[in-house]
Amino acid sequence: MAIAEAAPETAGAATMPEGAAGAGPVTKAEAAPEYFMREALAEARAAADCGEIPIGAVVEKNGAIIGRGRNRTESAKDPTAHAEMEAIKEACKAVGGWRLSECSIYVTTEPCAMCAGALVLSRIEKVYIGALNPKAGACVSLRRLLDDSRLNHSVAIETGLLRDECEAIMKAFFSELRQTKRGGR
Ligand SMILES: [Zn+2]
Repeated sequence: MAIAEAAPETAGAATMPEGAAGAGPVTKAEAAPEYFMREALAEARAAADCGEIPIGAVVEKNGAIIGRGRNRTESAKDPTAHAEMEAIKEACKAVGGWRLSECSIYVTTEPCAMCAGALVLSRIEKVYIGALNPKAGACVSLRRLLDDSRLNHSVAIETGLLRDECEAIMKAFFSELRQTKRGGR
């Protein structure tokens, strides 16, 4: 019974447009916002494995991922090596230009002022945010750079997508960091 119920998910009305990268038709499950946020979470986990604050991002266009990024500030020794910046740069290479209109970005933690600024400049259509960042977030928490009517572009915002998972990965990282420090290492 459970299998029969699950079948329409894959065989049903999966009529999303073909992937921008020419990867073929996108299934309905793959086109769901949760799918892209899980991909961003995978990037965040990869950052954590490298001892970086676990933040990940992916840029999606027409149901295909065209840019990925993870926080690399420590390893790159670069304060601008945030997940969103990396994902935006990769996406721009993929589209062959600096405009990311018709694209969405999925990021595990609310973008900072720098990244929110880059999102406005890129003309990206929408940002999906997992966890809010009350200490540095510049989309809803500290300021609202993405929908400031004085700027020439505004970015649609959706918060709370897979919030629990996005918060959990940050909490786990920082609690482990505290334990390591307490252990004198
Ligand atoms: Zn940032």
